[in-house]
Amino acid sequence: MNVKIYNTDGTKRVVIEEEILYLDNRVGPTYHQTLEEITGMTLKCRYIDNSDFKCECCGSDSFKIHDYGLRNLNKNQKIESTIYKCRKCGKTHQTPLEPFVDKNSNYTNKVQSLGIMVNYLSHLSLNNISLLNGIVNNAFPSRQSTLNYP
Ligand SMILES: [Zn+2]
Repeated sequence: MNVKIYNTDGTKRVVIEEEILYLDNRVGPTYHQTLEEITGMTLKCRYIDNSDFKCECCGSDSFKIHDYGLRNLNKNQKIESTIYKCRKCGKTHQTPLEPFVDKNSNYTNKVQSLGIMVNYLSHLSLNNISLLNGIVNNAFPSRQSTLNYP
């Protein structure tokens, strides 16, 4: 299977190649589950940085792929962020995932906001909020994680 969907700026938004799903970091990780459901395939999810980033050390814009940083989101979703290496000075640049998850959190913004909203609007128990998150987002944050949301 070979799928390519482009952003309006011509960069690749969603690509499926040899059971690897490449996602632009402006696309949320729920696409991963949705595309696995649609294709019936198990896809490795790998984030790419399409922005015009430059080396913060030497200013060069010439990079090669160096490695993939593994991140475990919402307890059950493994994703990788592509790490690039500057061809000139060797400094690395990792694809930022901040569009959908905070640096210091293992739960995506979407999962956090549902917890905050339901906690605010209702008197549901923390266990039930977690259960609701499981139904909507396929993620089951613990009672403590729900309490820790800002
Ligand atoms: Zn450099």
